[in-house]
Formats: sequence, structure tokens, C-alpha cells
Amino acid sequence: MSADARVGQSDEGDGDPIPISALQHAIYCLRQAALIHIERVWAENRFTAEGRVLHDVTHEADSRKERGVRRVTALPLACRRLNIAGVADLVEFRRGEGGETAFPVEYKRGKPKRHRADEVQLCAQALCLEEMTGRAVPEGALFYGETKRRVVVPFDAELRTLTETTALAFAVLLAEGRTPPPIWRAERCRACSLLELCRPKAMTKSALGFRNRALAAALDAGGAPG
Ligand code: SF4
Repeated sequence: MSADARVGQSDEGDGDPIPISALQHAIYCLRQAALIHIERVWAENRFTAEGRVLHDVTHEADSRKERGVRRVTALPLACRRLNIAGVADLVEFRRGEGGETAFPVEYKRGKPKRHRADEVQLCAQALCLEEMTGRAVPEGALFYGETKRRVVVPFDAELRTLTETTALAFAVLLAEGRTPPPIWRAERCRACSLLELCRPKAMTKSALGFRNRALAAALDAGGAPG
């Protein structure tokens, strides 16, 4: 069981909490999330291996204060309202008016991507921190290994809605134990660690073939119009 899945199992809520990492997979592809978190299929490629190494390095629990900022690594997080849980790479607690404000930082291999999976994962952490601390978490940052830069992510209404709807969509799949069929999308599928297992091109073709054969059979059975 992953660290994500272990956190908060005794929390109230509808069953085991959804790992925050599942939301990251779900925004990328709901089928990928279902294969990994429902069917427990996992395949590692170069991208996931590099990401895992970076993740392991940043997942050593520690807490220290530097220049007035409390920095906590490998911090367990949970949100009962959304029934999600996970572990933050780093949370900076910045002192301000009325107390400390949390600022989550997530480490990623590579560089900023066109999809919003990384932002959704970070926003899910912020929603957990808001529930846990009772204070607003207005922004966080993604640190990319390739560019070695932090990208500040504001948690605006659109990103919060996307994060919550993704959590709800995956919760429905989880409750039904259902894995959606594949849909081939070249850019997304070529970078997917499950490409060989999923075989979206072949499956989409055979599903289309089945539909066309069924349609032809139905037309034949109906006969030509008189
Ligand atoms: S190969 Fe494509 S359809 Fe299949 S799980 Fe990956 S992203 Fe989803």
C-alpha cells in the first residue's frame, strides 16, 4: 500500500480515503487512474522512475525553521469533506497577520506540462491544509527538476472546482469499481506508463470494428427499403 493510501484510514468518511496521487492520474486519464488505483496495475517507465527517485529524496520527514518560515517535509494530509489523503513533499508555514499560512511545494521531474495534473495535485493538498489548519491557503508552488525553478500556482476558483470535480468523478468510479474504456489520444497515450498494458489504439479499433459490424448486421436484418 502506498504512503498516500495509508494516510487517514481511520478518518470518518465513505471508506478509505482517495489518495491525492489518484487525482493527478485521473485528470490525466480516468482510465489510467482506475487501472492503477482500482485494478492495481502499475508499469514503470523512464518518466515514472525518475519521478519516483525525486519523490523518495523529498519524502524524508523533517521540520526546521529558516528566516521565520517553518518548513515541514513529508507532511501527512487529509480532507474529510472530499475523502482524500496524501503526503506533501514540503509545506512552508509563513508567519503573517493572525498566524501561519501554509504554502505547499511539490517536487516534479521534467518541466511544466500542458495538462493540469500537477496543479490539481497541489490544489488537493491546499484543500487538505485548509481543512486541517482552518486558514485559507491562497497559493503554492511546483518545483521542476529540469528547469530547477518554482512555478507559483494560485488556487483560484477554476482550479478548486476542477480539483473537486475530479475527486468526485474518481470517487464514483471507485464506488462502482469501474474502469472506463480507452480512448486513444496520441500525445497523452504516448507518454503514458500504461500504454503497453492499455493498448488504446487496438482496443479503440476493435470497439469501432464491433460497432460497425453490429450496425451492418442490424441494417442487413432490416432489409433494403422497398
Ligand atoms: S494509454 Fe491512453 S487511454 Fe490508456 S490509460 Fe494511458 S492515457 Fe489512458
